[in-house]
Amino acid sequence: MNDEKDTEDIFMVAERILAELPDWPEVEAAAALLRRANTETDLDARKDLEDELYWLLGSHEASRRRMNELLPDTAGERGTGGERGLEPLYSSGAPVPKDRYVCPQGSHYVYPVLSVDDPEPPPEHCPIDGLALVFRAAGTAD
Ligand SMILES: [Zn+2]
Repeated sequence: MNDEKDTEDIFMVAERILAELPDWPEVEAAAALLRRANTETDLDARKDLEDELYWLLGSHEASRRRMNELLPDTAGERGTGGERGLEPLYSSGAPVPKDRYVCPQGSHYVYPVLSVDDPEPPPEHCPIDGLALVFRAAGTAD
């Protein structure tokens, strides 16, 4: 796996999302990270900037969805780094059905796990009736 390539990818994706989503709430913060990245030559420091960008982009629905569209493979590749203890299932980089959290009471609430590198922790309870959500692995029926 090529760390440097990943780093360039997320910066390119962030720039594209900034251009596409001018009203996105984190435009200023992400633009500031990109400016720092342009002048940062230390690889570890760039990694930190990259992580911050992932977090920012993942913190809002519109940008997270766009990031996952633009980085479908990178999300899987990052999973092989083991930094978050992810399932080896994702190491192939091939498209996989989505894991999800569902309300045990019915189909009125489903929280899809958009990316194995999703920086946003899933909710623990159904927002509708407060029941603890149940994890469904990709490919299993509700
Ligand atoms: Zn519910």
